[in-house]
Amino acid sequence: MKKLKEKYYENKRDELGLNSIERLMKYLPASSPLMKRNVTYAHLDFEKIATAIAKKEPFAIISGLSPTGPLHFGHKAIFDELLWFQKNFGAEIYIPITNDEAYVVNKMDSLKDSLKCAYEEVIPGIIAFGFDPKKTKLFVDSDYKDIYNVAMQVSKNLSLRVVKRTFGFEEEIDNPGALFYRGAIQLSQIILPQLKEFGGPKPTLVLAGIDQHPYILLSRDVAKKMGLIEPSSIYIKFLNSLAGPQNKMSTSDPNSCIYLTDKPEVAEKKIDQAFTGGSPLAEKQKQKGGIPEACSIFSLLKYHFLDDKSFQESYLACSKGKVLCNGCKKGAKKMILEYLSEYQKRFEKAKGQMDEFLLKTPIKSILE
Ligand code: SF4
Repeated sequence: MKKLKEKYYENKRDELGLNSIERLMKYLPASSPLMKRNVTYAHLDFEKIATAIAKKEPFAIISGLSPTGPLHFGHKAIFDELLWFQKNFGAEIYIPITNDEAYVVNKMDSLKDSLKCAYEEVIPGIIAFGFDPKKTKLFVDSDYKDIYNVAMQVSKNLSLRVVKRTFGFEEEIDNPGALFYRGAIQLSQIILPQLKEFGGPKPTLVLAGIDQHPYILLSRDVAKKMGLIEPSSIYIKFLNSLAGPQNKMSTSDPNSCIYLTDKPEVAEKKIDQAFTGGSPLAEKQKQKGGIPEACSIFSLLKYHFLDDKSFQESYLACSKGKVLCNGCKKGAKKMILEYLSEYQKRFEKAKGQMDEFLLKTPIKSILE
């Protein structure tokens, strides 16, 4: 399973002509914990960002989120990476909350529900990670209506030929309207930091899952036509579901993930029930060892709780059968519950800080 999954990511990276993490790491004065673990694993045109970092020039990172429920540990990986770029290199971070998309693709029943989720769960959840309000801009699409003016301009620069070449469309698609709508809005979010109101053209980086790559390609095409700098991208591997490595953690399946706002007893129960790479027979596990690559607990620890040294030690202890799953889960529980307790205090505080982060800048340049 591990090999299959790693192969999937490697094949995708090669098929799309992306560069590997090793090359990315060569460009930077330091590497993030997720780069070292090969979780952030591929990039396109990262050289522009590395040059901006080396010259201490401004650059921006964009990473959007669809508000469909509370944040979980899978989201934390993305925000940890954004925060690392901000703390180490002063990145300006733009986080569009795509409630319109959640509604258009039927992930939420109404715009009202998507707004409630955005303001009650997602925005305080993001602020609680510790972003700098002076360098972080959050906006909810349907409340930041200026984004639709940008979408209008973007649409003028989108040709059907390029859209077809990027997405294919050889077969019938279920909801083409949603795809086109989403395309124009997502491209506007990527272009936004380069508009006059935000300091004009600058290197920008999109941090996303590899499924978003077609949108990056389109944004590069549109940026060129609009006289802007073509956006770069880096890609992150999704955190495994608690049910096993076949799927990723998903907001819509409470049993696949630990929400960052889960009560301690709920989180404990999820850890108890989580899929592991161990054997039901303790003796067998002592002899043969566990399979950390297939284990959802090891995945959580790898993404969030182990430093370089303890990562190697834990990997060896598991694969050589020096530790059994019960003991290992007990240790994981302690770390996870401690983190949740601290995070949830910050989450409550963040509810009163939303105004400092919400983008209100009117966009006029696009109408000139
Ligand atoms: S010992 Fe720990 S890391 Fe290894 S399979 Fe069991 S729970 Fe997973």
